[in-house]
Amino acid sequence: MCAVRAAFRPRLAAGPLLVALVTAPASVSLVAPVAGENPARSVDAGETLRGTQGDVLLVTIPVRDKPDRVTGKFLQRTLTLFPFRNGTYAGLLGLDLDDPAGRHDLIVTAVYPRRTDRHRLSVTVGKADYSVQRLTLPSAMVDLDAPTLMRVRAEAGALRRAFGSVLPNPLWRDAFRAPVAGTRSGRFGSRRVINGQSKKPHSGEDIAAPEGTPVSVMNDGIVRLTMDHFFTGNGVVVDHGLGLFSMYFHLSRVDVTQGQTVTGGQVLGAVGATGRATGPHLHWGVRLNGARVDPYALLPLPFGEASASAN
Ligand SMILES: [Zn+2]
Repeated sequence: MCAVRAAFRPRLAAGPLLVALVTAPASVSLVAPVAGENPARSVDAGETLRGTQGDVLLVTIPVRDKPDRVTGKFLQRTLTLFPFRNGTYAGLLGLDLDDPAGRHDLIVTAVYPRRTDRHRLSVTVGKADYSVQRLTLPSAMVDLDAPTLMRVRAEAGALRRAFGSVLPNPLWRDAFRAPVAGTRSGRFGSRRVINGQSKKPHSGEDIAAPEGTPVSVMNDGIVRLTMDHFFTGNGVVVDHGLGLFSMYFHLSRVDVTQGQTVTGGQVLGAVGATGRATGPHLHWGVRLNGARVDPYALLPLPFGEASASAN
């Protein structure tokens, strides 16, 4: 699946690595300022961004002066934009695997000391063609008894709390990378039928690899959580800032500790089959401001030195 879809080519920069860059054009129509202490100015970008459920879109907005903060609102989710290049602010917009198909507004607000600019962008979400995956597992792993159910709920709460951290800046600089080489064995978004029962869609990618294969972190960040959960087994959650988290599950061992700073490519642990797993594989998941996105959607994003030459 193509990870990044752009409705139009960038106008602010050229270069093959920036083809995926989605920009609001500089020639925007301005609506008269509203009177008041901090007048709001509406800037209708008049363009449509396109993506498919599970995609990650890089949204850039031209800014003048120096805003105090730039945030975006999309389907009840908030994203924080950060200073990017060529006088723009950028943000990663995640399209959840269950976001309704169709056209939705992305409202980007740039707050300055004396005014507020609002950019309205239109985002068209396409329906992804998810497959159905049928699995057979021991019934104790599917029909949970009461104590296990309590455990699973507490573990889900711990994960939710970990996702609550939203650092105001990106912790990464370079391009994102896959944590392990292997065969993609359980595709993102697939509708799961386990022992004949419909379950939640698969919110990550399963990569089959031999037990003990090193697993490396997709980019710079801080280890937010290390755990041994019923479903996920030994796992690591890494916070990359701005509400972007990556997850590495079913590990045979964990080599990092909570709060530790990690650098892209650093080994976090090794492939295993802990938790609910049918064999050794890595479950790689990404959460972006609450949206469950395809982790592979991050790989083509134009970060790092290779794309800096396109500045
Ligand atoms: Zn998985």
